[in-house]
Amino acid sequence: MSVSRPNNLDAYWMPFSDNRYFKAHPRMLARAEGMSYYTPEGKEVLDGTAGLWCCNAGHGRVEIKEAIQKQAAILDYAPTFQLGHPIAFEAAARIAEMTPEGMDRIFFTNSGSESADTALKIALAYHKARGESSRVRLIGRERGYHGVGFGGMSVGGIGGNRKQFGALLPYVDHLPHTHGLAANLFAKGQPAEGAHLADALEALVALHGAETIAAVMVEPVAGSTGVLVPPVGYLERLRELCTRHGILLIFDEVITGFGRLGTPFGAERLGVTPDIMTMAKGLTNAAVPMGAVAVQNAVYDAVVDGAAAGIELFHGYTYSGHPLAAAAAIATLDLHRAEDLPGRARAIEPYWQEAAHSLRSLPNVIDIRDCGLIAGIELAPRAGKPGARATEVFRRCFDDGVLIRVTGDIIALSPPLIVERPHVDRLFGVLGEAIRAEAA
Ligand code: PMP
Repeated sequence: MSVSRPNNLDAYWMPFSDNRYFKAHPRMLARAEGMSYYTPEGKEVLDGTAGLWCCNAGHGRVEIKEAIQKQAAILDYAPTFQLGHPIAFEAAARIAEMTPEGMDRIFFTNSGSESADTALKIALAYHKARGESSRVRLIGRERGYHGVGFGGMSVGGIGGNRKQFGALLPYVDHLPHTHGLAANLFAKGQPAEGAHLADALEALVALHGAETIAAVMVEPVAGSTGVLVPPVGYLERLRELCTRHGILLIFDEVITGFGRLGTPFGAERLGVTPDIMTMAKGLTNAAVPMGAVAVQNAVYDAVVDGAAAGIELFHGYTYSGHPLAAAAAIATLDLHRAEDLPGRARAIEPYWQEAAHSLRSLPNVIDIRDCGLIAGIELAPRAGKPGARATEVFRRCFDDGVLIRVTGDIIALSPPLIVERPHVDRLFGVLGEAIRAEAA
């Protein structure tokens, strides 16, 4: 099946894109099914990235499509401020069944960025409700990505995403990122060294006083900045310090949720439970935008009980708990259960890991890392042209029918969890050839 290309490429200002380059060399995805995208001309492109880390159940899932269609015929939209509609409650209950024990309260958003800002606002409201309104500092991490709202961007640690936008939020600090220790290069799974990097939180407590710090927000595995896997013991140490100092620990599970690490959320895989958890992407298999924030029941209780009569949290979105998104979420979670997607991810992880690390001896490969069904392959940058090498590898892969993602000179891979061995072989085969060809 072919889909016609648009005649006018000018009107759409594309996000996070080199618009002039794209419009001169448009690469388009027009259709998708299972593990593959198809260009407008019908050429297959194997999806090595689950879209943007989000189509975990594979593309074109009929069950999700039908659930959305059915819901659209019953209730297209209804407000959720002081009103309810049944399917939003059902979706929240289903998410609460998947989250770690005791995290049974779910706030709906429409994206990962909104989830990040919501989580930070809940943390501030929590402390205020408990009479600790001096706790206003928010702590993120270098190379953290929490979306593009002012909260998530400020707590996020990517210079390139921040520099255009002025002063950002005040009272924000950053822990060091966890990558770069020589002993950890080419580590398989969680690297051994670096738990001590969490002690930087202790230094911030000493500097500012625990009574000024509201929350620490990290991705369990940092995805967007190139697959930074937490060293063994690091998250445990962060948890311990947060608990000791009354600081809320927020996990941004927008990538690591919904089976990506072989467990429902990264929290289980990595053995650490946060106080607040953000999610989006895989929640609806990306068929309809939806995000959510799960909180410990005690966090919810503090905010709700701490409020005077009336509204407890002055926050929400027109589309919070949108009926079509809620229907997509329930259908997606049904698929997770019926097909045991986390189990599938776990089963193929050793094969995936070996395939990723088999690229080790290729030219310019300076590190490879992985966790669950994520892999990062870091290339040495071309002299004076950071990012150019990986961008060329991306273009070669696309033209050879494989979709990868690049961030700087790091290639990030995160296929749909329905991936099978022949897909893994093709993905790393084409990628290896592209890395070789670029170096030649
Ligand atoms: N947090 C993390 C960890 C993410 O990876 C992303 C998206 N890549 C976001 C937040 C932002 O999500 P969205 O683009 O849906 O706003």
